[in-house]
Amino acid sequence: MATLNDPYRIEVMSFNLDNITRENVKGLSPYSSARDEYVSDGSTMVFLDANENPFENGVNRYPDPQQRGLKAILAEQKDIEEENILLGNGSDEVLDLLFRAFCEPKEDNIISLPPTYGMYKVLSGINLVENREVLLTNDFQPNVDKILKTIDSNTKLLFICSPNNPTGNSFSTQIIEELLNSFNGLVVIDEAYIDFSSEESWISKLSEHPNLIVTQTLSKAYGMAGIRLGLCMASSEIIAVLNKIKPPYNVNQLTQDKAIERVLDVASVAQEVKDILSEREKLRETLKTVSFVQTIYATDANFILAKVDNANLRYTQLLEKGVVVRNRTTQPLCENTLRFTVGTAEENKSLISALKTLSN
Ligand SMILES: *Cc1c(COP(=O)(O)O)cnc(C)c1O
Repeated sequence: MATLNDPYRIEVMSFNLDNITRENVKGLSPYSSARDEYVSDGSTMVFLDANENPFENGVNRYPDPQQRGLKAILAEQKDIEEENILLGNGSDEVLDLLFRAFCEPKEDNIISLPPTYGMYKVLSGINLVENREVLLTNDFQPNVDKILKTIDSNTKLLFICSPNNPTGNSFSTQIIEELLNSFNGLVVIDEAYIDFSSEESWISKLSEHPNLIVTQTLSKAYGMAGIRLGLCMASSEIIAVLNKIKPPYNVNQLTQDKAIERVLDVASVAQEVKDILSEREKLRETLKTVSFVQTIYATDANFILAKVDNANLRYTQLLEKGVVVRNRTTQPLCENTLRFTVGTAEENKSLISALKTLSN
């Protein structure tokens, strides 16, 4: 068998979805709900198929299991097909589906790149799948050599969070491209913060890379963390596998309605992102004047990671002044760092005034 150090690996290795899908999942057919079997064409029908309460209250009917109305809008906005999208109860559900579809418990492994989003590790624990951690380099980029050496024939998923949480930076396009080309499993690019970034989404590369999965969310730039809506975008083959295992009604009616309203309001979302970005730059400038702030890291997201003299002390002092920030000091490469989410102009003023008082 060819190994990753084999100079001919590009020629001899190729991605094959069937090889990485769990055997039990291959044999499944999706649960067929009443709302799958009869899809309304808009004509007036009498619905006596799903044991629902017939009295109208807005939510007495089961929601569309395929969220067709919402998907049609998202597909158009993102210039992909509906068959390339799976929606979930937050991206956390989408990430969990990936483990359950592709990782055999106690056998397979995944790779994550700390310091990064905590859910990859949590989900690997829940699903009993080994999480192989490969630290980012000191400039917060993926360590390609180490990642390639860590991959073995049981490595199914590689999680790349770009822009990365909690560091804030985007990863180099060439590095991600190299990983996509040399890894035979699935590369999951978590783009939770892409709307704040000047980098282009990897969605446009889906047709070039059969092993690419892009996840996004309405929880950050779209301001809809409370409705729980996550997006998974990939080849129609990958999406078909995930559809076999997703709970039939995983995105509820209220979420679908609210999401449609929000994603259609392109101008409001864009304005809020613009305001957050200009507030972020103001906050960055002010942080430079705070005596105990030592490093302010580059960010492509709606937060700023900064190194301070003593993160535990400053975190507690800010709490006492009524400002809650995230203390990231226990994360690798993040000793004595705090993560500041960019708030409204007024909220940021509260943060700044608290920092200034402590700075004197
Ligand atoms: C906030 C965040 C998410 C969002 O998850 P949801 O379940 O969609 O709210 C996903 N990935 C990263 C890296 C995040 O920081």
